[in-house]
Amino acid sequence: MSDFNIKASVLVHRIPVERPVRTSFGTMLDRPSVLIRLEDGDGCVGWGEVWCNYPSVGAEHRARFLLATVLPLAAELDLFSQPERLWPELTRRLAVLAIQTGETGPIAQTIAGLDCAVQDLAARRAGEPLWRWLNQAARPQVPVYASGINPDGAAEAARDAIAAGYAGVKIKIGFDSELDQANLRGARELVGSDVPLMADANQGWSLEQALDFAPVCNELGLAWLEEPLRHDAPDADWIALGDRLSIPLAAGENFSSTDEFEELPERRGLGVLQPDLGKWGGAINMLAIGRRSGALGVRFCPHWLGSGIGLMTSLHVKAASASEGGYVEVDFNPNALREAIVAACDAGPRDGSVGLGESPGIGEVEAAVEAFSDCCVMREEWRTAST
Ligand SMILES: [Mg+2]
Repeated sequence: MSDFNIKASVLVHRIPVERPVRTSFGTMLDRPSVLIRLEDGDGCVGWGEVWCNYPSVGAEHRARFLLATVLPLAAELDLFSQPERLWPELTRRLAVLAIQTGETGPIAQTIAGLDCAVQDLAARRAGEPLWRWLNQAARPQVPVYASGINPDGAAEAARDAIAAGYAGVKIKIGFDSELDQANLRGARELVGSDVPLMADANQGWSLEQALDFAPVCNELGLAWLEEPLRHDAPDADWIALGDRLSIPLAAGENFSSTDEFEELPERRGLGVLQPDLGKWGGAINMLAIGRRSGALGVRFCPHWLGSGIGLMTSLHVKAASASEGGYVEVDFNPNALREAIVAACDAGPRDGSVGLGESPGIGEVEAAVEAFSDCCVMREEWRTAST
């Protein structure tokens, strides 16, 4: 459909926070997001979000790359009306640029966010919620856990998250071993032994450090231990660690190819797989990974720590995957834009899960985003040549 006219808006928000979000490798001083809003000639809209948390100045770069390169190329290749072709075609056409620039990540992330926007647009054009557009037989109930719990006040935050309706809670570790242990023990005490409690070391440990910490994870019966080692650690290190754990290993937010998602679960003995649809793959690949999760022997637990658009997309794709078990990750740190979008979509947690409704696409997000224009630090329009 070469006459598929598109107007795109690329928005960068920076939402102020009182308390920075700490991980073992860096700190977020505000909550950035790169949102893509597509509008076709019939006035139908589609929203997507590009992963952009790090480096802290990287959101604007990704927005500019979208405007300068990705959107024009998508138009040239006539991909806005062909959701199934957008990811593979753009990835193929930008492969040499990715090598030349060393910007493999930002290039994949911008294509991923655009894929989500195009999928949402297609669902809205059909008048269907995204979960059903992707899978007519899906059930729109999605288990969720609270994530991003900072090391200070972790146990109390874990308790609050469970009280707020999440099925489980994940605490950031990989700081100081004694602090990590105290946080996990404190959280276990406050949430009780039956609540899924997870820990995320964010690639912060050597094999030796991870092996030292393994008995704590076993004793506390964690639901999983996430990224204890660097993504580029040898498979043998993951296997050696897994041999000392009675709980599952989790990873996936730093995987960046179909081969990694297909091969690493077995090669590393992973029990939980965590793709991030705004970082690599978009909705189309995440759905495929979720559908394959049973065959891969893993629980499918989409990773998300951005704003509300990517979160809503993740919830819909998880529902559409009809995968057994697993949860969607929901950031428990304050982020007013994310919270407003979730509220607008009535997607807060109840009894451990989120119920997705019948609104077209990912839901009614427009007014929630517009309400944050004060925090919008960049907004640029782009349109296909004939509009
Ligand atoms: Mg993580």
